Amino acid sequence: MHSIKRKLYIETIGCQMNKSDSERIYGMMSHFGYDTVSENEADFLIVNTCSIRQLSEDKAYSKLGNWGQRKKRGEKLVIAIAGCVAQQEKEKLLKKFPYVDLVFGTQNIYELPALLNREGRICAISDKPYAEKEYKIIRNKNINAWLPIMEGCNNFCTYCVVPYTRGRERSRSLDVIIKEAKQIIKEGFREITLLGQNVDSYGKDLNDKPTFAYLLRELDKLDGEFRIRFTTSYPTDITEDVIKTVKEGKKICECFHIPMQSGNDRILKAMNRRYNVDEYKNIVRKIQNEIENVAVTSDFIAGFPSETEEEFKDTIKQIKELNLDYSNTASYSPRPNTPAGKMTDKFIPDDVKKRRLNELNECIKEASFNSNKKYVGKTLEVLVEKINFKDGKRMLEGRLRNNKVVHFQSDVDNIGDFVRVRLNEASIWCLFGQKAD
Ligand code: SF4
Repeated sequence: MHSIKRKLYIETIGCQMNKSDSERIYGMMSHFGYDTVSENEADFLIVNTCSIRQLSEDKAYSKLGNWGQRKKRGEKLVIAIAGCVAQQEKEKLLKKFPYVDLVFGTQNIYELPALLNREGRICAISDKPYAEKEYKIIRNKNINAWLPIMEGCNNFCTYCVVPYTRGRERSRSLDVIIKEAKQIIKEGFREITLLGQNVDSYGKDLNDKPTFAYLLRELDKLDGEFRIRFTTSYPTDITEDVIKTVKEGKKICECFHIPMQSGNDRILKAMNRRYNVDEYKNIVRKIQNEIENVAVTSDFIAGFPSETEEEFKDTIKQIKELNLDYSNTASYSPRPNTPAGKMTDKFIPDDVKKRRLNELNECIKEASFNSNKKYVGKTLEVLVEKINFKDGKRMLEGRLRNNKVVHFQSDVDNIGDFVRVRLNEASIWCLFGQKAD
């Protein structure tokens, strides 16, 4: 592996945690003399994989196929597979892809420089959590910076691979997080998104047991003009203290992402989700009642094994009752080694899953439109993220604190500015407005 010229490209697939890992790999490798370049210029290529759905896995394999072709045509490349698929499939990937030089897992990131000095094709997968090393982080150049506060999950939902690929919950120390947050603010980012598979578990594994609410309050105290977001929340782990902290925080955005997954108690039990429909509704209502202009978003799975038509209809009914602001949807995708993935005799046919997913999406669209309409007439703060030109007009695109997308015209404001906007029109996915006087 010595022959490479140190030009690195990472193809990142999947969640924000993967994006954050890739930023850390770029930063670490820059310390060892690697430049960050485009895919075609690179001679060291990493695909940082996601195994949440078969589709994401296939995307990684197709990328590898392209790189394998380049190698066959004589390009001197080092090709590596990282991330959750690597963690899950291990050596099998070296067999499956003869042109791949290196497979390294989610816990082996910091070994990468040493692995590149070893001879032969290598598979490095560890189940033991890694010890973090301090390198600079090369972040995406936009207004938002990802900041992982914890990794892993203890919940073992029956459809999910995360506890197997990312291990058990581990929190990063409060000091490290605060230090990283200060650096992010210094670099001029306007938004910090705290990442964790279950942010409300933050600190439970640390000696002095700082809570997630405490962490939020400490970050809220930092100087600077910026916003704090966080994702993902597990419904029954959200505490009164977190709700109060979000309500009172100056910089903490009023937005909760709380996956419900199904609106039927039997299916929730089969998914090993630790709440029932009423408990979920209670927490969402409490948040909606307590916090002004809050958005609650969710995730839903269509066609979990054994889901009947009536049980699916329960999900539709609950979405309509909950006044959710937005939800991600997916049809059930069997994942290897998960309990649900072994329920092969109870799998729902693809055409039924597809139809249910379409129905879910229609329902989500309606909910999103209804939610957006409630904001027409209000004047709220928008953080500008993009500049678009439409019909000769300079249109700005940004987000409210609750994450809703807003478009408005301005010739003077720029990316990273906080602007008061009067909202005067709603569509399904966004709002339109004009700069307030
Ligand atoms: S809470 Fe469930 S779905 Fe979320 S990461 Fe943990 S096991 Fe997966």
